[in-house]
Amino acid sequence: MINEKMVNLGKQPSVIRELFEFGKRRKEEIGEENVFDFSLGNPSVPAPLVVKKELINLLEKEDPTFLHGYTSAMGDEKAREAIVTYINSKYHCKEKKELVYMTCGAAASLTIALKALCNQDDEVIVFAPFFPEYRVFIENSGGKIVVCGFDKNTFEPDMIELEKLINEKTKLLIINSPNNPSGVIYSKECIEKIASLLRSKQKEYNKEIYLLADEPYRELVYNQEEVPYITKYYDNSLVAYSFSKSLSLPGERIGYLLVGNKCFQANSVFYAICGAGRSLGYVCAPSLFQHLIPSVIGKTSNIDDYKENLKELSSLLEEIGYEVVHPQGAFYLFVKALEEDDNEFSKRAREFNLLLVPSTSFGVKGYVRIAYCVSLKQIRNSYNAFKELYMSYL
Ligand code: PLP
Repeated sequence: MINEKMVNLGKQPSVIRELFEFGKRRKEEIGEENVFDFSLGNPSVPAPLVVKKELINLLEKEDPTFLHGYTSAMGDEKAREAIVTYINSKYHCKEKKELVYMTCGAAASLTIALKALCNQDDEVIVFAPFFPEYRVFIENSGGKIVVCGFDKNTFEPDMIELEKLINEKTKLLIINSPNNPSGVIYSKECIEKIASLLRSKQKEYNKEIYLLADEPYRELVYNQEEVPYITKYYDNSLVAYSFSKSLSLPGERIGYLLVGNKCFQANSVFYAICGAGRSLGYVCAPSLFQHLIPSVIGKTSNIDDYKENLKELSSLLEEIGYEVVHPQGAFYLFVKALEEDDNEFSKRAREFNLLLVPSTSFGVKGYVRIAYCVSLKQIRNSYNAFKELYMSYL
């Protein structure tokens, strides 16, 4: 018998993927311009020119056996060094290149971290609304997902509930800010509260509790809000980073996992990460893109385009009468569904060729997520469809 659990996982595409596939079929039927696909977080802004220039430079100047060859399992030394040099100067911390593991994007960073930290039935707390793949990643690591609710006004974690959820089985918490799907950035005060609670719970249960920051959207911030750097606030921290969104390189699969240098027995945690990477077959992230990192670290795609999309989309929706959660980052808008059942609302939206992701998949009821990493033209052209959808509820 093959693994039934995996068969089922493979058979059921994520809601987001399913919508995206529906969109592809629908575009063939009625034409691309008539389908308003807001399903997927695929960057619509191209990678900055420096990426192309430096790639050409590497391809022309470097020995191909080096460029396309294996790096060490945890990654190329220069890439790891460039990453910590940048982080340390930007966030005034003292991270170490020896504690950076290069990965195939945030998804790999998360699965490696979970595999490294979790023993069977350890509990992993995530905060609604959360990236749906967390459930898959956590369950596959042998851990148990525990969902904590949020403050309805700020969309930040509900601290009272969090206090109750932490127990002797809690191994780690995952935070994601700027958040997919709400776009909310957790404030410094919020991070300080989480850190202080964790410190007291560590004492109470006499064990380490880790905080894993999933940060593919760190650079996608629109009004210079600060995204607190987690290792400065809490010692047992890890950072799962990805260049997928900041440099518009999601298909190239490049990111890293960093163990905060103040982590208890940080070297052992890093060994566990190397072991997890090895056991999962995640050794040597794509080498061409590792070699690119030193020359592009700190650069981003032109996020002004997303800012403009956000402005246009929010005002268009609010003018019609929709209620939106005002995001500070990422490229998603969380919008209140016009009926209680967000799945039904998303289905009704499909009738108007609007592809909106129902919020139940993010652990919250009654909203849809609109990914606005699309062309401004698509946003403008979707006005009538949003209006008709709204009118259909009157
Ligand atoms: N975490 C969050 C919150 C995401 O939104 C995504 C992708 O959309 C990922 C992780 C995975 O990112 P990557 O493409 O770098 O694997």
